[in-house]
Amino acid sequence: MKIEESKRLKKLPRYLFAEIAKIIKEKRDQGIDVISLGIGDPDIPTPKGIIDEIQKEVENPVNHQYPSSYGMSSFNEAVADFYMNRFNVKIDPANEVIPLFGAKEGIANIAYTYVDPGDYVLVPDPSYPVYSIGTMFAGGQIHIMPMEEKNNYIIDLDNIDKDIAAKTKLMHVNYPNNPTSAICSIDFYERLAEFALKNNIIVCHDNAYSDTYFGDNSPASFLNAGGSKEVGIEIYSLSKTFNMTGWRIGCAVGNREVIGSLGKYKSNVDSGVFNAIQYAAIKAFKNYKEYSGENNKIYKKRREMVTGILDNIGIDYHKSNATIYVWAKVPEGHTSKSFAKLVLDEANVVVTPGSSYGKFGEGYFRVSLTISDDRLKEALDRIAGTF
Ligand SMILES: *Cc1c(COP(=O)(O)O)cnc(C)c1O
Repeated sequence: MKIEESKRLKKLPRYLFAEIAKIIKEKRDQGIDVISLGIGDPDIPTPKGIIDEIQKEVENPVNHQYPSSYGMSSFNEAVADFYMNRFNVKIDPANEVIPLFGAKEGIANIAYTYVDPGDYVLVPDPSYPVYSIGTMFAGGQIHIMPMEEKNNYIIDLDNIDKDIAAKTKLMHVNYPNNPTSAICSIDFYERLAEFALKNNIIVCHDNAYSDTYFGDNSPASFLNAGGSKEVGIEIYSLSKTFNMTGWRIGCAVGNREVIGSLGKYKSNVDSGVFNAIQYAAIKAFKNYKEYSGENNKIYKKRREMVTGILDNIGIDYHKSNATIYVWAKVPEGHTSKSFAKLVLDEANVVVTPGSSYGKFGEGYFRVSLTISDDRLKEALDRIAGTF
């Protein structure tokens, strides 16, 4: 029998980290201590209160049956309360919230909800890969929006081709941003909502990092912008805020028609998030200040340690008070890949080549802060030693 993948699966680009993954494995097999600063996956455990909550709820047989794809009302209310307390945004819990199996799931499925073959989708470059991959799976056409240092990595909406914009169905935006760590102002969100309304484009704003920040200026929500609810949704993830990447929980919030259609799609392919996990998420949202505050102290310290060493060795980086990444420039004469390879060969440290997030990421590399202080320091000292 000949087993053949679907055309859409075969079309997937080659896994960009494959080469690096192979080198890491070879080194580790030889007993070499490789430190990876590659993955954005919090090393800090999920807060105890959240764990206690799921342990209690897992015992309750009521939670052992199918959940609703549209979420428990107590979960949806907790999301609405969080949006009010944290962002001062009013959300109707009955119609404007749906739980997700993490932001990634929502991003991938919004494509199936709205994108027909040939439809254009605007995707930032560099960016989290799922925006492009979801688009591709649904048969959409990707049109990139450059994120450039000269613009502080803010998308230049005026520079988007007018004819493409007229043909576009959906756009993905993400601030605070992975991989660049850039933050945008409310003013940008206002212009984004205006642009989307004018061109009849649905906005899907990925807000995975609004609560990993330090300092007094907490990042806003897209839904803070006037008219935002008319044009789209925001996807919130508990993964980074509450160290819950393994739990698979997030939510989509915003335009009721979009939430309804996403729910219509999802109720046909999944059967909702385990209620016990929704209870744990409620606990997280209710205590967001305490839980995220503790994390952010740790990330602040780590960021300052990393940027201090980068300053010493003369490597430029984007100054930011949010996300769990440092986005830095490769030294003269290097490409993203050649620098990542050099650091891996000589320092046994993995950094992510910026080019793996898109062509506008070329010339940069990303360092993730999700590793213990000691190991992070050791990794940066090793990198510094190669200079
Ligand atoms: C980590 C990350 C996500 C994934 O979130 P999950 O809720 O774990 O699926 C989504 N978007 C961006 C930009 C991320 O960096």
